[in-house]
Amino acid sequence: MDITKLEPTQLWTIFNRITKIPRPSRKEEKIIEYIEQFAAEHNLQIEKDTANNILVSKPASPGMENKKTVILQSHLDMVCEKHNHLNFNFMTDPIPAYIDGNYIKTHGTTLGADDGIGIAASLAILQSDNIPHGPIQCLFTTDEETGLNGARELDPKFLAKADILINLDSEELGEFCIGCAGGKNTRGIFKYKTIETPGNHYWFEVKIDKLIGGHSGSDIHLGRGNANKIITRYLWTLNKETPIQLATINGGNLHNAIPREANAIIGIPIKDREKAIITLNTLQAVLSEEYEQTDKNVRLAIETVSQPQTCLDQEDARKILNTIYALPHGVISMSHKIEGMVETSTNLASVKMTENNTITITTSQRSSSETLKTDICNQIQACFTLAGASVEFSDGYPGWKPNTDSEILKIAGNIYEKMFGKPINVTVIHAGLECGLFLEKKNSLDVISCGPTINDAHSPEEKIDITTVGQWWKFLIELLKTIPS
Ligand SMILES: [Zn+2]
Repeated sequence: MDITKLEPTQLWTIFNRITKIPRPSRKEEKIIEYIEQFAAEHNLQIEKDTANNILVSKPASPGMENKKTVILQSHLDMVCEKHNHLNFNFMTDPIPAYIDGNYIKTHGTTLGADDGIGIAASLAILQSDNIPHGPIQCLFTTDEETGLNGARELDPKFLAKADILINLDSEELGEFCIGCAGGKNTRGIFKYKTIETPGNHYWFEVKIDKLIGGHSGSDIHLGRGNANKIITRYLWTLNKETPIQLATINGGNLHNAIPREANAIIGIPIKDREKAIITLNTLQAVLSEEYEQTDKNVRLAIETVSQPQTCLDQEDARKILNTIYALPHGVISMSHKIEGMVETSTNLASVKMTENNTITITTSQRSSSETLKTDICNQIQACFTLAGASVEFSDGYPGWKPNTDSEILKIAGNIYEKMFGKPINVTVIHAGLECGLFLEKKNSLDVISCGPTINDAHSPEEKIDITTVGQWWKFLIELLKTIPS
Protein backbone atom coordinates (compact mmCIF):
# COMPACT_ATOMS: atom_id res chain seq x y z
CA MET A 1 0.00 0.00 0.00
CA ASP A 2 1.00 3.56 -0.79
CA ILE A 3 1.58 6.00 2.10
CA THR A 4 -0.58 8.62 0.35
CA LYS A 5 -3.62 6.25 0.58
CA LEU A 6 -3.49 6.22 4.41
CA GLU A 7 -6.09 8.18 6.40
CA PRO A 8 -6.04 11.14 6.81
CA THR A 9 -4.88 11.27 3.18
CA GLN A 10 -4.26 15.04 3.12
CA LEU A 11 -1.74 14.75 5.99
CA TRP A 12 -0.01 11.58 4.74
CA THR A 13 0.29 12.92 1.19
CA ILE A 14 2.19 15.95 2.50
CA PHE A 15 4.28 13.81 4.85
CA ASN A 16 5.27 11.54 1.98
CA ARG A 17 6.26 14.58 -0.10
CA ILE A 18 8.37 15.96 2.77
CA THR A 19 10.36 12.71 3.06
CA LYS A 20 11.57 13.37 -0.50
CA ILE A 21 12.93 16.85 0.36
CA PRO A 22 16.46 17.03 1.86
CA ARG A 23 16.52 18.97 5.16
CA PRO A 24 19.60 18.38 7.33
CA SER A 25 20.11 20.95 10.10
CA ARG A 26 21.48 24.25 8.71
CA LYS A 27 20.69 23.07 5.18
CA GLU A 28 16.96 23.71 5.11
CA GLU A 29 16.88 25.68 1.81
CA LYS A 30 14.87 23.07 -0.11
CA ILE A 31 12.14 22.60 2.50
CA ILE A 32 11.89 26.40 2.90
CA GLU A 33 11.41 26.71 -0.86
CA TYR A 34 8.69 24.05 -0.70
CA ILE A 35 6.80 25.92 2.04
CA GLU A 36 7.17 29.22 0.19
CA GLN A 37 5.61 27.63 -2.91
CA PHE A 38 2.91 26.03 -0.78
CA ALA A 39 1.98 29.39 0.78
CA ALA A 40 1.92 31.08 -2.65
CA GLU A 41 -0.33 28.34 -4.10
CA HIS A 42 -2.80 28.72 -1.25
CA ASN A 43 -2.67 32.53 -1.09
CA LEU A 44 -1.35 32.56 2.46
CA GLN A 45 0.67 35.32 4.07
CA ILE A 46 4.28 34.23 4.67
CA GLU A 47 7.15 35.91 6.53
CA LYS A 48 10.78 34.89 6.98
CA ASP A 49 13.24 36.23 9.59
CA THR A 50 17.04 36.45 9.45
CA ALA A 51 17.40 32.92 10.88
CA ASN A 52 15.15 31.61 8.05
CA ASN A 53 12.33 30.78 10.46
CA ILE A 54 9.02 30.94 8.60
CA LEU A 55 5.62 32.14 9.78
CA VAL A 56 2.56 31.36 7.62
CA SER A 57 -0.71 33.01 8.69
CA LYS A 58 -4.24 31.94 7.82
CA PRO A 59 -7.38 33.92 8.71
CA ALA A 60 -10.10 32.43 10.91
CA SER A 61 -13.00 30.43 9.50
CA PRO A 62 -16.16 32.58 9.17
CA GLY A 63 -17.69 33.30 12.58
CA MET A 64 -14.52 32.28 14.49
CA GLU A 65 -12.60 35.55 14.19
CA ASN A 66 -12.89 36.25 17.94
CA LYS A 67 -11.05 33.15 19.05
CA LYS A 68 -7.57 33.40 20.52
CA THR A 69 -4.74 33.20 17.99
CA VAL A 70 -2.95 29.87 17.91
CA ILE A 71 0.55 29.10 16.66
CA LEU A 72 1.17 25.53 15.53
CA GLN A 73 4.94 25.11 15.72
CA SER A 74 7.27 22.51 14.24
CA HIS A 75 10.94 22.43 13.19
CA LEU A 76 12.16 22.10 9.61
CA ASP A 77 15.44 20.24 10.09
CA MET A 78 16.04 16.57 10.81
CA VAL A 79 18.81 14.48 12.36
CA CYS A 80 20.76 12.66 9.63
CA GLU A 81 21.92 9.32 11.05
CA LYS A 82 22.54 6.17 9.01
CA HIS A 83 24.10 2.75 9.32
CA ASN A 84 27.85 2.99 8.63
CA HIS A 85 27.90 0.70 5.59
CA LEU A 86 24.97 2.42 3.85
CA ASN A 87 25.58 4.60 0.81
CA PHE A 88 23.09 7.43 1.33
CA ASN A 89 23.45 11.17 0.77
CA PHE A 90 21.09 13.23 2.96
CA MET A 91 21.75 16.32 0.81
CA THR A 92 20.36 14.74 -2.37
CA ASP A 93 18.64 11.40 -1.76
CA PRO A 94 14.91 11.10 -1.07
CA ILE A 95 14.06 8.97 1.97
CA PRO A 96 12.33 5.79 0.73
CA ALA A 97 9.69 5.64 3.46
CA TYR A 98 7.44 2.57 3.44
CA ILE A 99 4.59 1.00 5.38
CA ASP A 100 5.36 -1.96 7.61
CA GLY A 101 2.29 -3.09 9.55
CA ASN A 102 1.22 -0.17 11.73
CA TYR A 103 4.46 1.78 11.15
CA ILE A 104 6.11 4.00 8.58
CA LYS A 105 9.81 3.16 8.44
CA THR A 106 12.71 3.53 6.06
CA HIS A 107 15.86 1.63 5.15
CA GLY A 108 18.88 2.20 7.40
CA THR A 109 18.52 5.96 7.93
CA THR A 110 16.56 8.31 10.14
CA LEU A 111 13.04 8.83 8.79
CA GLY A 112 12.59 12.48 9.72
CA ALA A 113 9.14 11.91 11.28
CA ASP A 114 10.79 14.09 13.95
CA ASP A 115 9.55 16.65 13.08
CA GLY A 116 8.27 15.98 9.54
CA ILE A 117 4.94 14.90 10.99
CA GLY A 118 4.58 18.30 12.71
CA ILE A 119 5.28 20.11 9.41
CA ALA A 120 2.79 17.85 7.58
CA ALA A 121 0.00 18.41 10.12
CA SER A 122 0.54 22.20 10.00
CA LEU A 123 0.45 22.31 6.19
CA ALA A 124 -2.62 20.03 6.06
CA ILE A 125 -4.47 22.47 8.31
CA LEU A 126 -3.25 25.46 6.27
CA GLN A 127 -4.53 23.95 3.02
CA SER A 128 -7.88 22.69 4.37
CA ASP A 129 -11.14 24.48 3.68
CA ASN A 130 -13.34 22.30 5.91
CA ILE A 131 -11.55 22.44 9.28
CA PRO A 132 -13.08 25.17 11.49
CA HIS A 133 -10.51 27.23 13.38
CA GLY A 134 -9.83 30.70 14.73
CA PRO A 135 -6.91 32.86 13.55
CA ILE A 136 -4.04 30.45 13.02
CA GLN A 137 -0.33 30.77 12.34
CA CYS A 138 2.14 28.01 11.53
CA LEU A 139 5.67 28.61 12.72
CA PHE A 140 8.46 26.54 11.16
CA THR A 141 11.85 26.90 12.84
CA THR A 142 15.32 26.05 11.53
CA ASP A 143 18.27 24.22 13.07
CA GLU A 144 16.50 22.78 16.11
CA GLU A 145 18.45 19.57 16.34
CA THR A 146 21.95 21.00 16.78
CA GLY A 147 20.99 23.40 19.60
CA LEU A 148 17.59 25.12 19.16
CA ASN A 149 19.31 27.79 17.08
CA GLY A 150 16.38 28.91 14.92
CA ALA A 151 14.20 29.40 18.00
CA ARG A 152 16.99 31.31 19.76
CA GLU A 153 17.31 33.73 16.84
CA LEU A 154 13.55 33.98 16.21
CA ASP A 155 12.26 37.46 15.49
CA PRO A 156 10.00 38.25 18.51
CA LYS A 157 7.54 39.89 16.09
CA PHE A 158 6.58 36.39 14.95
CA LEU A 159 4.99 35.82 18.38
CA ALA A 160 3.26 39.22 18.58
CA LYS A 161 -0.27 38.08 17.64
CA ALA A 162 -0.33 34.67 19.32
CA ASP A 163 -2.00 33.77 22.63
CA ILE A 164 -1.39 30.01 22.49
CA LEU A 165 1.53 28.02 21.08
CA ILE A 166 1.18 24.31 20.39
CA ASN A 167 4.56 22.69 19.80
CA LEU A 168 4.19 19.58 17.60
CA ASP A 169 7.53 17.97 18.51
CA SER A 170 6.60 15.41 21.22
CA GLU A 171 6.89 11.71 20.58
CA GLU A 172 4.22 9.86 22.54
CA LEU A 173 0.49 10.18 21.91
CA GLY A 174 -1.31 11.11 25.11
CA GLU A 175 1.77 12.64 26.70
CA PHE A 176 1.52 16.40 26.99
CA CYS A 177 4.78 18.09 27.78
CA ILE A 178 4.58 21.33 29.79
CA GLY A 179 8.22 21.85 30.73
CA CYS A 180 11.79 20.96 29.96
CA ALA A 181 15.33 21.37 31.21
CA GLY A 182 17.64 24.16 30.12
CA GLY A 183 21.10 23.36 28.82
CA LYS A 184 24.59 24.73 28.35
CA ASN A 185 27.95 23.35 27.20
CA THR A 186 31.20 23.90 29.06
CA ARG A 187 34.49 23.29 27.24
CA GLY A 188 37.96 23.00 28.72
CA ILE A 189 40.85 23.73 26.39
CA PHE A 190 44.31 22.44 27.20
CA LYS A 191 47.53 23.47 25.49
CA TYR A 192 50.16 20.82 26.00
CA LYS A 193 53.88 20.41 25.33
CA THR A 194 55.23 17.39 23.50
CA ILE A 195 58.45 15.46 23.98
CA GLU A 196 60.21 12.88 21.85
CA THR A 197 59.04 9.43 22.85
CA PRO A 198 61.53 7.59 25.06
CA GLY A 199 63.06 4.26 23.99
CA ASN A 200 62.56 0.93 25.75
CA HIS A 201 58.81 1.34 25.87
CA TYR A 202 55.96 -0.94 24.88
CA TRP A 203 53.44 1.07 22.79
CA PHE A 204 49.84 0.07 22.45
CA GLU A 205 46.39 1.37 21.64
CA VAL A 206 43.56 0.92 24.12
CA LYS A 207 40.04 1.08 22.76
CA ILE A 208 36.44 0.92 23.87
CA ASP A 209 33.69 0.84 21.23
CA LYS A 210 30.75 -1.37 22.14
CA LEU A 211 28.81 0.88 24.50
CA ILE A 212 25.14 1.73 23.91
CA GLY A 213 25.45 5.52 24.23
CA GLY A 214 22.15 7.38 23.79
CA HIS A 215 20.75 10.87 24.23
CA SER A 216 22.47 12.92 26.91
CA GLY A 217 19.12 14.24 28.17
CA SER A 218 16.50 11.53 27.92
CA ASP A 219 18.90 8.59 28.52
CA ILE A 220 21.26 10.08 31.11
CA HIS A 221 19.59 8.29 34.06
CA LEU A 222 19.94 4.82 32.53
CA GLY A 223 23.42 4.20 33.94
CA ARG A 224 25.11 3.44 30.64
CA GLY A 225 28.89 3.55 30.31
CA ASN A 226 30.74 6.69 29.22
CA ALA A 227 33.65 5.73 26.94
CA ASN A 228 35.76 8.75 27.99
CA LYS A 229 35.36 7.97 31.68
CA ILE A 230 36.04 4.25 31.29
CA ILE A 231 39.17 4.62 29.16
CA THR A 232 40.54 7.19 31.59
CA ARG A 233 39.78 4.91 34.51
CA TYR A 234 42.05 2.34 32.85
CA LEU A 235 44.86 4.81 32.07
CA TRP A 236 44.74 6.37 35.53
CA THR A 237 44.78 2.96 37.24
CA LEU A 238 47.63 1.69 35.08
CA ASN A 239 49.61 4.85 35.80
CA LYS A 240 49.58 3.93 39.49
CA GLU A 241 51.34 0.67 38.57
CA THR A 242 53.85 2.08 36.11
CA PRO A 243 54.42 5.54 34.60
CA ILE A 244 52.59 5.85 31.30
CA GLN A 245 53.48 8.02 28.31
CA LEU A 246 50.39 9.43 26.60
CA ALA A 247 50.63 9.93 22.83
CA THR A 248 46.96 10.37 21.89
CA ILE A 249 43.54 10.35 23.52
CA ASN A 250 40.19 10.84 21.75
CA GLY A 251 36.60 9.90 22.45
CA GLY A 252 32.97 10.80 21.82
CA ASN A 253 31.48 13.04 19.18
CA LEU A 254 28.25 15.04 19.63
CA HIS A 255 27.70 17.18 22.74
CA ASN A 256 24.22 15.67 23.18
CA ALA A 257 25.22 12.02 22.88
CA ILE A 258 26.63 9.83 25.64
CA PRO A 259 30.02 8.79 24.20
CA ARG A 260 30.14 5.20 22.92
CA GLU A 261 33.72 5.11 21.66
CA ALA A 262 37.17 6.22 22.87
CA ASN A 263 40.78 5.33 22.17
CA ALA A 264 44.26 6.23 23.38
CA ILE A 265 47.83 5.39 22.38
CA ILE A 266 50.21 5.01 25.30
CA GLY A 267 53.63 3.63 26.16
CA ILE A 268 54.92 1.94 29.32
CA PRO A 269 58.42 0.65 30.15
CA ILE A 270 58.95 -2.69 28.36
CA LYS A 271 59.71 -4.44 31.64
CA ASP A 272 56.13 -3.60 32.82
CA ARG A 273 54.36 -4.85 29.71
CA GLU A 274 52.50 -7.53 31.70
CA LYS A 275 50.99 -4.84 33.91
CA ALA A 276 49.08 -3.40 30.96
CA ILE A 277 47.33 -6.72 30.48
CA ILE A 278 46.80 -7.55 34.16
CA THR A 279 45.31 -4.11 34.84
CA LEU A 280 43.08 -4.45 31.78
CA ASN A 281 41.81 -7.89 32.77
CA THR A 282 41.14 -6.82 36.34
CA LEU A 283 39.24 -3.71 35.25
CA GLN A 284 37.35 -5.67 32.57
CA ALA A 285 36.00 -8.06 35.22
CA VAL A 286 34.96 -5.10 37.39
CA LEU A 287 33.24 -3.33 34.48
CA SER A 288 31.41 -6.45 33.35
CA GLU A 289 29.90 -6.70 36.81
CA GLU A 290 29.20 -2.98 37.26
CA TYR A 291 27.47 -2.66 33.88
CA GLU A 292 25.81 -6.07 33.84
CA GLN A 293 22.32 -4.52 33.85
CA THR A 294 22.91 -1.31 31.93
CA ASP A 295 25.63 -1.74 29.27
CA LYS A 296 26.55 -5.40 29.16
CA ASN A 297 28.84 -5.33 26.10
CA VAL A 298 31.31 -3.00 27.82
CA ARG A 299 34.74 -4.14 26.63
CA LEU A 300 38.25 -2.69 26.67
CA ALA A 301 40.71 -3.98 24.08
CA ILE A 302 44.43 -3.36 23.53
CA GLU A 303 46.55 -3.75 20.46
CA THR A 304 50.31 -3.27 19.95
CA VAL A 305 51.29 -0.26 17.80
CA SER A 306 54.62 1.07 16.54
CA GLN A 307 56.43 3.74 18.54
CA PRO A 308 55.01 7.22 17.80
CA GLN A 309 57.42 10.14 17.26
CA THR A 310 56.17 12.29 20.10
CA CYS A 311 54.01 12.07 23.18
CA LEU A 312 52.68 14.52 25.75
CA ASP A 313 54.95 16.06 28.32
CA GLN A 314 54.49 14.01 31.52
CA GLU A 315 53.06 16.81 33.62
CA ASP A 316 50.54 17.86 30.95
CA ALA A 317 49.44 14.27 30.46
CA ARG A 318 48.83 13.90 34.22
CA LYS A 319 46.75 17.07 34.30
CA ILE A 320 44.58 15.90 31.43
CA LEU A 321 44.02 12.41 32.81
CA ASN A 322 43.31 13.75 36.29
CA THR A 323 40.79 16.20 34.83
CA ILE A 324 38.88 13.61 32.81
CA TYR A 325 38.86 11.27 35.80
CA ALA A 326 37.68 14.01 38.18
CA LEU A 327 34.98 15.53 35.94
CA PRO A 328 31.51 14.33 36.94
CA HIS A 329 29.26 12.50 34.49
CA GLY A 330 25.61 11.47 34.72
CA VAL A 331 22.75 12.43 37.03
CA ILE A 332 23.73 15.08 39.59
CA SER A 333 20.32 15.38 41.27
CA MET A 334 16.74 14.14 40.98
CA SER A 335 13.72 16.42 41.29
CA HIS A 336 12.03 16.62 44.69
CA LYS A 337 8.89 18.06 43.07
CA ILE A 338 8.21 15.59 40.25
CA GLU A 339 8.92 11.99 41.16
CA GLY A 340 11.34 10.15 38.91
CA MET A 341 12.42 13.25 36.98
CA VAL A 342 16.10 14.07 36.60
CA GLU A 343 16.69 17.64 37.78
CA THR A 344 20.36 18.20 36.93
CA SER A 345 22.85 16.22 34.87
CA THR A 346 26.13 16.54 33.04
CA ASN A 347 27.52 14.61 30.07
CA LEU A 348 31.29 14.26 29.57
CA ALA A 349 30.69 14.28 25.85
CA SER A 350 33.99 14.38 23.99
CA VAL A 351 37.75 14.55 24.25
CA LYS A 352 39.40 15.70 21.04
CA MET A 353 43.05 16.26 20.13
CA THR A 354 43.40 18.87 17.44
CA GLU A 355 46.20 20.78 15.73
CA ASN A 356 48.57 23.09 17.61
CA ASN A 357 48.92 20.76 20.61
CA THR A 358 45.38 21.33 21.82
CA ILE A 359 43.00 19.00 23.64
CA THR A 360 39.39 20.12 23.96
CA ILE A 361 37.09 18.46 26.46
CA THR A 362 33.41 19.18 25.80
CA THR A 363 30.83 18.67 28.52
CA SER A 364 27.10 19.37 28.42
CA GLN A 365 24.95 20.37 31.41
CA ARG A 366 21.16 20.26 31.78
CA SER A 367 18.85 21.29 34.59
CA SER A 368 15.21 22.20 35.11
CA SER A 369 16.51 24.83 37.56
CA GLU A 370 18.42 27.79 36.07
CA THR A 371 20.42 28.28 39.28
CA LEU A 372 21.39 24.62 39.47
CA LYS A 373 22.36 24.71 35.79
CA THR A 374 24.71 27.60 36.58
CA ASP A 375 26.00 25.76 39.65
CA ILE A 376 26.96 22.58 37.77
CA CYS A 377 28.55 24.62 34.95
CA ASN A 378 30.60 26.44 37.60
CA GLN A 379 31.71 23.16 39.16
CA ILE A 380 32.93 21.92 35.78
CA GLN A 381 34.68 25.25 35.23
CA ALA A 382 36.38 24.93 38.65
CA CYS A 383 37.64 21.50 37.72
CA PHE A 384 39.12 22.78 34.44
CA THR A 385 40.61 25.82 36.17
CA LEU A 386 42.38 23.64 38.75
CA ALA A 387 44.09 21.87 35.86
CA GLY A 388 45.11 25.10 34.15
CA ALA A 389 42.75 24.75 31.16
CA SER A 390 40.96 27.73 29.67
CA VAL A 391 37.17 27.51 29.73
CA GLU A 392 34.46 28.41 27.19
CA PHE A 393 30.69 28.25 27.55
CA SER A 394 28.05 27.93 24.83
CA ASP A 395 25.11 30.37 24.82
CA GLY A 396 22.90 27.69 26.25
CA TYR A 397 19.13 27.82 26.38
CA PRO A 398 16.67 28.37 29.21
CA GLY A 399 14.47 25.70 30.68
CA TRP A 400 10.73 25.78 30.14
CA LYS A 401 9.11 26.28 33.53
CA PRO A 402 5.91 24.20 33.89
CA ASN A 403 2.63 26.09 34.24
CA THR A 404 0.18 23.60 35.74
CA ASP A 405 -2.62 26.23 35.53
CA SER A 406 -2.33 26.44 31.74
CA GLU A 407 -5.72 26.99 30.09
CA ILE A 408 -4.76 25.14 26.90
CA LEU A 409 -3.55 22.17 28.97
CA LYS A 410 -6.95 21.89 30.67
CA ILE A 411 -8.81 22.13 27.36
CA ALA A 412 -6.48 19.59 25.71
CA GLY A 413 -6.87 17.23 28.70
CA ASN A 414 -10.70 17.37 28.56
CA ILE A 415 -10.84 16.79 24.82
CA TYR A 416 -8.35 13.96 24.93
CA GLU A 417 -10.15 12.19 27.75
CA LYS A 418 -13.52 12.53 26.04
CA MET A 419 -12.12 11.21 22.73
CA PHE A 420 -9.98 8.34 23.97
CA GLY A 421 -11.51 7.51 27.37
CA LYS A 422 -8.30 7.99 29.34
CA PRO A 423 -6.59 10.91 31.04
CA ILE A 424 -3.58 12.58 29.52
CA ASN A 425 -0.13 12.10 30.96
CA VAL A 426 1.42 15.48 31.79
CA THR A 427 5.22 15.42 31.59
CA VAL A 428 8.26 17.59 32.11
CA ILE A 429 11.27 16.28 30.20
CA HIS A 430 15.02 16.36 30.83
CA ALA A 431 15.80 17.29 27.23
CA GLY A 432 15.65 20.55 25.30
CA LEU A 433 12.55 21.91 23.57
CA GLU A 434 12.21 25.23 21.78
CA CYS A 435 9.30 26.33 24.01
CA GLY A 436 11.54 27.84 26.73
CA LEU A 437 13.06 30.17 24.13
CA PHE A 438 9.62 31.26 22.88
CA LEU A 439 8.53 32.04 26.44
CA GLU A 440 11.70 34.05 26.97
CA LYS A 441 10.57 36.28 24.07
CA LYS A 442 6.90 36.39 25.10
CA ASN A 443 6.12 35.16 28.61
CA SER A 444 2.34 35.50 28.33
CA LEU A 445 2.15 32.66 25.77
CA ASP A 446 0.21 29.59 26.85
CA VAL A 447 2.30 26.66 25.63
CA ILE A 448 1.96 22.87 25.40
CA SER A 449 3.72 20.22 23.35
CA CYS A 450 2.14 17.08 21.89
CA GLY A 451 2.58 14.66 19.02
CA PRO A 452 1.89 11.15 17.74
CA THR A 453 4.10 8.23 18.78
CA ILE A 454 7.55 8.12 17.19
CA ASN A 455 10.00 5.40 18.24
CA ASP A 456 13.81 5.57 18.14
CA ALA A 457 13.99 9.15 16.84
CA HIS A 458 17.53 10.29 15.92
CA SER A 459 18.50 6.71 15.01
CA PRO A 460 18.28 4.62 11.80
CA GLU A 461 15.51 2.64 13.53
CA GLU A 462 13.18 5.68 13.63
CA LYS A 463 9.54 4.79 12.90
CA ILE A 464 6.15 6.40 13.35
CA ASP A 465 2.96 4.70 14.57
CA ILE A 466 0.24 5.15 11.92
CA THR A 467 -2.77 4.71 14.24
CA THR A 468 -1.53 7.38 16.64
CA VAL A 469 -1.14 9.85 13.75
CA GLY A 470 -4.84 9.44 12.86
CA GLN A 471 -5.85 9.87 16.51
CA TRP A 472 -3.60 12.89 17.01
CA TRP A 473 -4.98 14.53 13.85
CA LYS A 474 -8.60 14.11 15.08
CA PHE A 475 -7.55 15.49 18.46
CA LEU A 476 -5.87 18.55 16.88
CA ILE A 477 -8.97 19.34 14.81
CA GLU A 478 -11.19 19.12 17.90
CA LEU A 479 -8.72 21.25 19.86
CA LEU A 480 -8.73 24.01 17.21
CA LYS A 481 -12.55 24.03 17.27
CA THR A 482 -12.56 24.43 21.07
CA ILE A 483 -10.06 27.29 21.43
CA PRO A 484 -11.70 29.94 23.68
CA SER A 485 -12.46 33.50 22.58
ZN1 LIG B 1 12.32 17.18 17.03
